[in-house]
Amino acid sequence: MAHLSSTVTRLQPSATLAMSQKSAELKAQGIDIINLSVGEPDFDTPLHIRLAAKQAIDDGHTRYTPVPGIPALRKAIAAKLKNENGLDYAPEQVIVSNGAKQSVCNTLLALCDAGDEVIIPAPYWVSYPQMALMAGATPVIVEAGIEQGFKITPAQLEAAITPRTRVLILCTPSNPTGAVYTAAELDALADVLRRHEQVTVIADEIYEHINYTGRHASLAACEGMKERTVIVNGVSKAYAMTGWRIGFIAAPLDIAKATQKLQGQYTSNPGSVSQYAALAAYEGDQQCVEEMRQAFARRKDLIVALTREVPGFEVSEPDGAFYVFPKCSALFGKTDGKRVIKTSTDFALYLLEEAHVATVGGDAFGSPECFRMSYATSDDNIREALRRIKAAVERLH
Ligand code: PMP
Ligand code: GLU
Repeated sequence: MAHLSSTVTRLQPSATLAMSQKSAELKAQGIDIINLSVGEPDFDTPLHIRLAAKQAIDDGHTRYTPVPGIPALRKAIAAKLKNENGLDYAPEQVIVSNGAKQSVCNTLLALCDAGDEVIIPAPYWVSYPQMALMAGATPVIVEAGIEQGFKITPAQLEAAITPRTRVLILCTPSNPTGAVYTAAELDALADVLRRHEQVTVIADEIYEHINYTGRHASLAACEGMKERTVIVNGVSKAYAMTGWRIGFIAAPLDIAKATQKLQGQYTSNPGSVSQYAALAAYEGDQQCVEEMRQAFARRKDLIVALTREVPGFEVSEPDGAFYVFPKCSALFGKTDGKRVIKTSTDFALYLLEEAHVATVGGDAFGSPECFRMSYATSDDNIREALRRIKAAVERLH
């Protein structure tokens, strides 16, 4: 047996990817699984973006590019931040990476020393605490349950900050809850942050365009916060481009340069063809983004209505992203005669094996009383999945 590092030994595998893999394996065995586990748009990447990628190959854009991305893409992202978010960034402040996942991880690696604390509101995206651990930092979890709309309060933030706090990770719209912070709520958090200069915010805005409440609010737009905030975003969700692996940060120049140095030593530039595809996404017609948003909004209404019909579930209406995160703890202790449901992961496994619906237990999101369903799938799949889930829940006693 190889000696494995303590860093990798401590790490948990990604629960979202594990559940998606498991559901793909069962599907390959011919079992009719409905996959509500992974958070990935079911749409194809829009045609004009795919054509731009083909053109990039034909034009010979197949070599190394500058580590932080081709100049045209960094410029297009800076223009997007100006036009859509009202924020002024120079292209040098934009670093393009292999997906927003790498962008978050790069930033944590650039900012944290051993013993530093990273504040992570729960429910959280599964990878945040693991990335903080990879950086040698200590995750500090602040709990925001369904009763507070899954959003932390300024008082909770104030209580969690210590002299060792280096980073707050704030994800809005949120994976896994769909909660969206309003501009006023962000202002109130900024009031706290302005009193604690040692804290930098990683603002994960990957679901910016999947918002059902109107305009996206960015923490970087709050007074005094742009100098302290690293915006993370990318093309995966807004343009249905998960496989292309393009994300970015927009950050104060010193942080941008630090992540560029890191990236230059371990992954270099993100794929050249993908960068040209992302350029077409940002420069092209934005109608496709709105069409997908409208489809997600319709599906959200459908899944929320059907989920509310399941006895024992409590549902908070999501304002963004494409997840619903019902509380299912009223079912804990119940049995179908074969097994007892003790945790949300037990419940997700029960749904997978008995209802053939893949979801993800809330344990991995720091919220053991809930479970996550992604509604980035067809209306028919949503209807059939919830019919099966309701029947499976009704068999529990
Ligand atoms: N942040 C959040 C909150 C996400 O849900 C995801 C989806 N995997 C990412 C970042 C990473 O996205 P990407 O596909 O760009 O790496
Ligand atoms: N963000 C998606 C999810 O939460 C993709 C999988 C992942 O990278 O975790 O399901």
